[in-house]
This record gives sequence, structure tokens and C-alpha cells, in this order.
Amino acid sequence: MIRQALISGGGIGGLAAALACTRAGWEVRLFEQAARFSEVGAGIQLGPNVTRVLQGWDLAGALAEVAAFPDRLQVRHAVSGQELGVLPLGAAMVQRYGAPYATVHRADLHQLLLDKVRQRMDATLNLNFRLARFTQTGDAVTVQGRVRSDEEIGKKPPAWGPQIEGDALIGADGLWSPVRQWLLADGPPRVTGHLAYRALLPQSSLPERLRSQHVTAWLGPRLHVVQYPVRGGEWLNVVGIVQGRLDAASSADLDNWDHATNAQALRAALAGTCAPLQDLINAIDAWRLWILCDRPPLERAQQQAQGRVALLGDAAHPMRPYLAQGAGMAIEDAAELGRALGQALDPAFDVPTMLARYALNRWQRNARVQARAIRNGQIFHADGLVRWGRDAALKLLGERLLDLPWLYGGT
Ligand code: FAD
Repeated sequence: MIRQALISGGGIGGLAAALACTRAGWEVRLFEQAARFSEVGAGIQLGPNVTRVLQGWDLAGALAEVAAFPDRLQVRHAVSGQELGVLPLGAAMVQRYGAPYATVHRADLHQLLLDKVRQRMDATLNLNFRLARFTQTGDAVTVQGRVRSDEEIGKKPPAWGPQIEGDALIGADGLWSPVRQWLLADGPPRVTGHLAYRALLPQSSLPERLRSQHVTAWLGPRLHVVQYPVRGGEWLNVVGIVQGRLDAASSADLDNWDHATNAQALRAALAGTCAPLQDLINAIDAWRLWILCDRPPLERAQQQAQGRVALLGDAAHPMRPYLAQGAGMAIEDAAELGRALGQALDPAFDVPTMLARYALNRWQRNARVQARAIRNGQIFHADGLVRWGRDAALKLLGERLLDLPWLYGGT
């Protein structure tokens, strides 16, 4: 029996879903609204729970070519500079969880998934195709989108494409997912009041003392900064997150979340921090800004699948980046989706039942990670007594607090 999955969105989640579904024996038609497949210039951390999935998809070698594998995660106080706790990564992670802790450029991760999907004869990738109309019956799901040819771009509004029918629709279309709105009609995501400033630069452009091959999290009142190597350690990714809102004018285009910005506001927010951190921030001129949005944690499985439609990645569970697992959960979703849809090829199981099982197997873990990410943000940005308690606990129990067996050991 040939079954066809329609996938809305060609980000990390959509490509991972395409790979998992084709590996499970489904045909895939993926639709991406952009004119080309691309990812923003930023880093991403992948815990062993995620690299284990990539290993299972024969991507360990490709990942090793582009990623860095830091040997420690260190937590430092942003004001005193003091080291608060350390989690050994490197060989310790492989030994404990059977897979490495990797840090990678988002575009490199996206590209290695894209290369793998392109090798599959059973996947069709469509660019310039913005899905906007959806219907489902008991037997099928139908989508229609606005399509543009390269010559038409910028000349006239895109025309409606043909109606396309499939056995399942996977909404992997991100934070502002149109598939989610059709399915759940729960309105836009919420603005968190946190701003992420990010920079990605060759380590060689920094003075020797500012280069680093570790993951370092600097925790300060109402802010934190994370830095780690990518691209085999040759580049450094730096993200500074501060609490604050942009004025109405500059936040008007919230869904265009990749803004060029200057470093003034970040430097002002970090004014009271220690010299090594300020030196790093002051050494970097080019920053981009993300206005962080999320949704409350999932409350039930039906928020992740209904009938022949399932949500995956940020479309289902957009989260704050304080556990570094948003893309990780999208990749875990994709692996579970592949397992469920593989079983749906057996005539004894129908597609809605197997998508419901996918949602049942995923929603609680996704909700837990969303909730933990919110809590981490409160702990990272703590001040006063809570900060004192955090620092004391980290000094006493560092590794035990920073290691997360429920997350890194499970899926
Ligand atoms: P997206 O990447 O948003 O992809 C959605 C795609 O759908 C886009 O290509 C879009 O163009 C397309 N699309 C949208 N609408 C349509 C339509 N109607 N038709 C067709 N196509 C459509 N995660 C980690 O795992 N580790 C980290 O260290 C980490 N760090 C982060 C740091 C920051 C500052 C932030 C903001 C996030 C971080 N994340 C991290 C989270 C991670 O970036 C996201 O969870 C992940 O990229 C989501 O992938 P996605 O494919 O679900 O969505």
C-alpha cells in the first residue's frame, strides 16, 4: 500500500519528518514557503537524546564533519565570574548515554538533513509553496497553497496552486503555524518579554583569551549569556538573553524574528557583569535579535494530532530556549512519527489511530520540556535569595543538577 504524507514547512522539523516518514515507507510531499531551503546563522546544542536519533538515521558521520563536541559545560556567575558548576560532556556523555553532546551551526544541521532527504526517491520537495487551505475528510486530507515561480517573485501576488490530497498532513511550519491555527484556532504565540541577541563569528577573529571550546552559561540577574563552539570548533556562537520588551514600532513585525541590531542595548544590560564576559561582548560588533515567543506547555494529546493531521516541532510546542531542546524535540517528534506511520502501513491500523498514538507518545515529554525550559529561565535570571540558593546548590551538587537523565537518556 502506498501512503503519502504532506508536510508543511521545510525547517529542521519538517526535514526530519520527511526523512523519518520516507524511512518508514511513506511517500512525502514537502512544501516550503521560502524560495530556497535555508536556516539562520546561529548555533544549536544537541543533547545525546537528539544525536542518538541522528545516529539511527545514519547521520553520525555527517554530523561529526560539521559539529563540535565540547568536553564540558560550565556555569559561571555573570557578575562575579566565579565558576558555579560543571557538567562533563565529551566522552562522559557517550559513556553514560551512548551518544555525544554536540554543538552545531543551524544551517549545517539543516543541510545535512536536506542532503539525506534529497537522496530519497520517495520525497518531493516544493519551494515557493505556501500552504494556506486545508480540509480533511475521513479518507484523506487536502491542502492548497499559494505558488510562485522564480520569475514571478516580486511581480504579482502568488496564484493558488492545485488541490493536493494525501493520507496525512504534518504541520511542521513553526511558531506561526497555519496548520495549527486551522486545527486548534488558539491564536498567536505569546511574547515572553525576553530578547535574544545572537552572534556567530570565527574564533580566529577574537583575541586568544576569548576563544573557547566549552559550553559556557553565564547567569546574571534578569539575563544570561551562552557561548559554545560550532563548525569543528572554528566558530563561536554567542547568545545573550535579556529581559525587556521592544517598543511597539520595532516589535510590529514579530513573526519576522531575525532582526539586525546593534549591540548597545545588550551592552547596557550587561554593564554590571564581570570583565571576561564584558570583554567578549565588547569584542563582537555584529548582533542579530530574536524576540522570544512561546506557548504554554501542551495539556493534552489532542493538541498534537487530530484525525489525519499532526503537529510537530515549534508548530506543536514552541518553547523558550533555556533547555536547548526546541529542535531536539522536533527531531524526537519526527522519529516517533516515523514509527507510528510505519505501523499505519499495516491495514490493521488506520492513519488517524496511529497519529493519535504519535501524539500520546509525545505530548507529555514535550510539555515537560516546555515547562522545564520556563523554570530554567527563572532560575538562570534569578536575583536575591533565589539566586543565593541557586549558586549554593550548584556549588554543592553541580554535576548532579546539570545532568538530566530523564532528558538525555529518554526520547
Ligand atoms: P521552523 O524552524 O520555524 O521551521 C518552520 C518552516 O516552515 C520554515 O521554514 C517556514 O518558512 C515554513 N513555513 C511556515 N509557514 C508555512 C506555510 N504556510 N507553508 C509552507 N511552509 C511554511 N533548539 C535546540 O534543540 N537546541 C538549541 O540550542 C536551541 N537554541 C535556540 C536558541 C534560540 C535563541 C532560539 C530562539 C531557539 C533555539 N532552539 C534550540 C529552538 C529551535 O531553534 C527551534 O525549536 C527549531 O528550529 C524549530 O524547528 P521547526 O522546524 O519546528 O520550525
